[in-house]
Amino acid sequence: MHEFGITSRIVNTVLQAAAEHKSTQVLEVELLIGRLTFLNPAQVQYSYELLARGTILEGSTLIIEEIEGAVRCMKCQRINSLKLPPQGCYDPFPSFCCPECGGSVEIIQGKECLVKGAKMI
Ligand SMILES: [Zn+2]
Repeated sequence: MHEFGITSRIVNTVLQAAAEHKSTQVLEVELLIGRLTFLNPAQVQYSYELLARGTILEGSTLIIEEIEGAVRCMKCQRINSLKLPPQGCYDPFPSFCCPECGGSVEIIQGKECLVKGAKMI
């Protein structure tokens, strides 16, 4: 489960930030997850709860904000949003191309996976 490893890094980042702030309890963690990371938010939530157990993150609220994918065509420079089919029925390595001209595209948004903010005391 690829979510577990990534969530573990997220939890470590928050724990480190909490230590720097001499915090004793984390109340809320806000995450930004791009749709093109193919992370399943429900799995991230589940992993988070497991990893938070026994730490100052235990009992905190995890808020996951998803970011849609966006691509820029390298041929015509148009920017298009990249809507993915619902979780579970997509090709894990889809070949992306420009819907306008069929040119190859580069991903400019949707690969984010970061901690946007955290509330701690
Ligand atoms: Zn194009």
